[in-house]
Amino acid sequence: MPLLGCIADDFTGATDLASMLVRNGMRTVQLIGVPTAGTEVPQADAVVVALKSRTAPVASAVQESLAALAWLRAAGCRQYFFKYCSTFDSTTRGNIGPVADALLHALGERFALICPAFPANERTVYQGHLFVGSRLLNESGMEKHPLTPMTDADLVHLMAAQSTGEVGLISYRTVAAGAEAIATALGELAGQGIRYGVVDALDDGHLRAIGTAIAGQVLVTGGSGVAMGLPENFRRAGLLAANPDPGALPAVSGAAAILAGSCSRATRSQIAAAERHLPVLRLDPLAQPDPEVLLTSALDWAGSRLGRIPVVIAASAAPEAVAALQERLGRQRAGELVEGVLARIAEALLARGVRRLLVAGGETSGAVVSRLGVQRLRIGREIAPGVPWTLAEGTCGPLRLALKSGNFGGPEFFTQAFAED
Ligand code: ADP
Repeated sequence: MPLLGCIADDFTGATDLASMLVRNGMRTVQLIGVPTAGTEVPQADAVVVALKSRTAPVASAVQESLAALAWLRAAGCRQYFFKYCSTFDSTTRGNIGPVADALLHALGERFALICPAFPANERTVYQGHLFVGSRLLNESGMEKHPLTPMTDADLVHLMAAQSTGEVGLISYRTVAAGAEAIATALGELAGQGIRYGVVDALDDGHLRAIGTAIAGQVLVTGGSGVAMGLPENFRRAGLLAANPDPGALPAVSGAAAILAGSCSRATRSQIAAAERHLPVLRLDPLAQPDPEVLLTSALDWAGSRLGRIPVVIAASAAPEAVAALQERLGRQRAGELVEGVLARIAEALLARGVRRLLVAGGETSGAVVSRLGVQRLRIGREIAPGVPWTLAEGTCGPLRLALKSGNFGGPEFFTQAFAED
């Protein structure tokens, strides 16, 4: 039976959390979307249900999260984790508060922690204020995010505005005093009828102390950072065996491919680096905005090149080219065109023997995974922080799959990803 049941509000965020749990000794499986009553409970220590609820209307975010919780409870989990982004991405109407309220209510609990801190990625919380590097959240660029603009860095304010409950703070001084002091402070807040405790955290030592302090909390909410301390609680309680290799995956043989739809700076430099070592095809949706033409040209090109060495097919382009296509087709149609073509290319490559696939881009990954009928991902070793190899299962058959959110990974990511295969 799984010990920890997690609900993630977006797809690559779910993988990031799953990877954190594997790194800390839990065998973890990620399920795509709300599992149905008949979905088999995976043999794993932790299960992460990946939803797309971050920017969904509040009512459907709540409803999907509750459905995921009901499934995880039926699966026998002992503790639950609501995962959101380490930049607390929430719409101005705010999905995090209502979802957390509903999960607490369903569990019959009165208190939960709020902890988006992820110091390894420079997200820290001090006096309840969220920093990205040296900038407050609302001065970090997140205030201009197209879908979830964050114009306030004060998590106590943000959560109080989104939730129907009261919100308190456990500040740095208490956190630095260690797990016992944190547990006492959590108990005091809960005793005063306060529903949420925002907790400061500046480094991994703080996150591990917080993790120890929340061993007995039924619901934890946070970014993937605060999950690092949870596996140790289960080990201490004798519930989790020492897993020497929690990310071990069965070998999968077959041809290799990389599909890139992210236009982030990181992904574009990874493509440029790959051009020195690997066969790379750059799709030009601006010159050929016809999905059939793009699909056929990609498959013709890949045909004789498929094998152990990965082929790279990239739609990724510089901001001017992206803007030009968006101007021509509209923002949404441009995105859908490219995502749809890459998803169909993925499907056709699988039919031609590709069994090891890496996809770059959050939305692009979502499109590919849906098209291939992936239902679950068993999480393996990390290629780079937050990007693990996985074993994908579903109607696609066993597939070695890695999903990279656009900005993750160093310049040689593509050339190194398959190095140990
Ligand atoms: P990231 O993780 O970097 O945000 P996403 O896949 O989420 O990457 O988003 C990138 C978006 O850009 C996708 O909707 C993709 O279809 C679109 N896109 C990719 N290449 C192009 C291009 N050449 N022109 C216009 N849009 C593109």
